[in-house]
Amino acid sequence: RNSKLPNIPTSIFSVMSKMAADYDAINLSQGFPNFPTDPALGALVDQAMEEGFNQYAPMAGDFELRMEISKKIEKLHKHFYNPETEITITAGATQAIFTVIAATISKGDEVIIFTPAYDCYAPTIALFGGKVVPIQLKPPYYKVDWQEVADKVTSATKMIVINSPHNPSGMLFSEDDMLQLQHLAEVNDLFVLSDEVYEHIIFDGNIHQSASKFENLANRSFVTASFGKTFHNTGWKIGYCVAPAPLMKEFQKVHQFLVFSVNHPFQKAFATYLKDDSHYLKLSDFYQQKRDFFLNLMKESSFKIIPSKGTYFQMLDFSEISNESDIVFAERLTKQHRIATIPTSVFNKAEKDFKQIRICFAKTDDTLAEAAKILNEF
Ligand code: PMP
Ligand code: GLN
Repeated sequence: RNSKLPNIPTSIFSVMSKMAADYDAINLSQGFPNFPTDPALGALVDQAMEEGFNQYAPMAGDFELRMEISKKIEKLHKHFYNPETEITITAGATQAIFTVIAATISKGDEVIIFTPAYDCYAPTIALFGGKVVPIQLKPPYYKVDWQEVADKVTSATKMIVINSPHNPSGMLFSEDDMLQLQHLAEVNDLFVLSDEVYEHIIFDGNIHQSASKFENLANRSFVTASFGKTFHNTGWKIGYCVAPAPLMKEFQKVHQFLVFSVNHPFQKAFATYLKDDSHYLKLSDFYQQKRDFFLNLMKESSFKIIPSKGTYFQMLDFSEISNESDIVFAERLTKQHRIATIPTSVFNKAEKDFKQIRICFAKTDDTLAEAAKILNEF
């Protein structure tokens, strides 16, 4: 029998985290913090369990949490999502993204993605018979040429997937990018999947341009988010999707049979925790301090570095250090130098190798200092 996904390898995040463990390397590969989530948030989970929230949550998610998400988006982006009909809590952004694609993409539909692209988009599109139309963004700035995008739109194009702040490059979409996208989506009647998991990690005074901020984009977009990224608990796997009611209705038709609903006590905890906006509004400053601490240690480095503008990732260009492919270079770094990173060609169209590796700086200052010491030996 044929495989449904014949050319899909094990995710690079599993591969590199395993290699890091096997070789006792500092793990700057898979994106997760090595410091704890707020114990007060853990206490809220315990409290929710004690209060008896141990049975199925409503299919769309805990209502109190949906209300808090609605309030947060309205405050930040001036767009109201009805918590009754336009918000669903998911098992991380990964499930939200899968569900959006499952609910919208059929055989023959074309979906435009920007590469390097987070690794779950293309296989999920393929699984539902969609055709991935990649547009390659190039280092060091990874800017989108909207004319190129317009040229790639055909009568079969159903959706465009965007991700700002962008993993792995740390690039941001500007307001102008969003307006161009809005125009293209309106003229061609396209859905947009806007993956905004790093919405609260933005540097140098830049502002997050959420799809929900732009009225005529919001009314054709699914926006996905992840509490794991925002609250330092990627292992809890709670996220959400917001979309206009007719789109959310289609989303929930799939969601109810994929998971029905997700972990109830953790949802209750987030509902309370979100009421204090300092829990997410201070995150950019927190990570900017980490980025700057690391970049300062790397001032004399042979790696070429353009500072990340958002996310907790930094690209390192090793073209002046080695001619190896990024995969070979990252493997050597892990096995011989005891530092694990992500080779980014795996996220590119046709595995184009730009000699860029990605590090995650969601780490304690001690770990970052130790990592910089090793990287400065090159
Ligand atoms: N999208 C992007 C761009 C990511 O980096 C990640 C990794 N967190 C996800 C989606 C998946 O998020 P989650 O861990 O909440 O499933
Ligand atoms: N989003 C994380 C990253 O980019 C990985 C999540 C995962 O392992 N699936 O590193």
